[in-house]
Amino acid sequence: MTAEQKELVEKKRDRRGRVKRIKNFIVSFITTWILVSMIAIVALTAKVISLQHQIDEIKGSGLAKDAQVSEASGSADFTDGDTDAMALMNYGPSAEENLAEVGDTLKVYLTFDDGPSGNSDKILDILDDYNVKATFFVVGKEDDESKRIYKRIVDEGHTLAMHSYTHKYSYIYSSLDNFKSDMDKLQNLLYDVTGVDCDLYRFPGGSSNRVSNTDMSEYINYLNKKNIRYLDWNVASGDATSAPITADDLVENVMSDVVKYKTSVVLMHDADSKDATVEALPTIIEKLQAEGALILPVSDDTEMIQHITVQ
Ligand code: ZN
Repeated sequence: MTAEQKELVEKKRDRRGRVKRIKNFIVSFITTWILVSMIAIVALTAKVISLQHQIDEIKGSGLAKDAQVSEASGSADFTDGDTDAMALMNYGPSAEENLAEVGDTLKVYLTFDDGPSGNSDKILDILDDYNVKATFFVVGKEDDESKRIYKRIVDEGHTLAMHSYTHKYSYIYSSLDNFKSDMDKLQNLLYDVTGVDCDLYRFPGGSSNRVSNTDMSEYINYLNKKNIRYLDWNVASGDATSAPITADDLVENVMSDVVKYKTSVVLMHDADSKDATVEALPTIIEKLQAEGALILPVSDDTEMIQHITVQ
């Protein structure tokens, strides 16, 4: 081999080496890029799901407020900003008769939505400490812990009621068929676990929600036909939104509204993130008792507070 040939071979080897290095670089670059993208996709998906959940919650509480306002002002096309109308938040056809007068014994129904959760036991312990019975509008969960909570609610004399199996607005409010099968699934689960045939329902977002594409009267007619009563609320504790709220604010929200009505249905939440509700509960009970209010679980003779009714 001449020196020239040798040089040529060496050059070729060099070039091969360089090409290999470039290839390796490109492969590792693409691999890293794919990995980073996948991590980003997973993180973003989780974020979207959590935001969607928050939107659902906010929609629910916001829309319920709309209904409060339109009821109070007596017009369906009420627009925001009328503080007088907002100050008087009445509900349902019997709103007028429900206004409390001096000397009335106030009836208060404490209701907890969205459980079972990591806070259910704490709520049940507090209710037990004060020997107070409440109403739990539960969703469908099939793990052992949740089943134990369903049973504990019933065993301790509280009212077990339905709040949809999935709590997914996009599913239950997209068709009456979905709504039916969702409710059946929850009713069957609760019957299997506790032996209770639930006949009380709370619509996610309330009967006044405007998430539904279907006329809510269809859903209400269906419940009426099945002899399932539905209960909304006329006192919002304020724990529905994801915005942070203090226990003191919750107490204030509840107490300032409860005194207005003969019958108050108080909306609260049994959820992992709602620690302020747990913190506020003992004070709410103490103040209600000091007020001479009767704290009751929902029963057959409870007057239904409903945002929307169908004759
Ligand atoms: Zn809910």
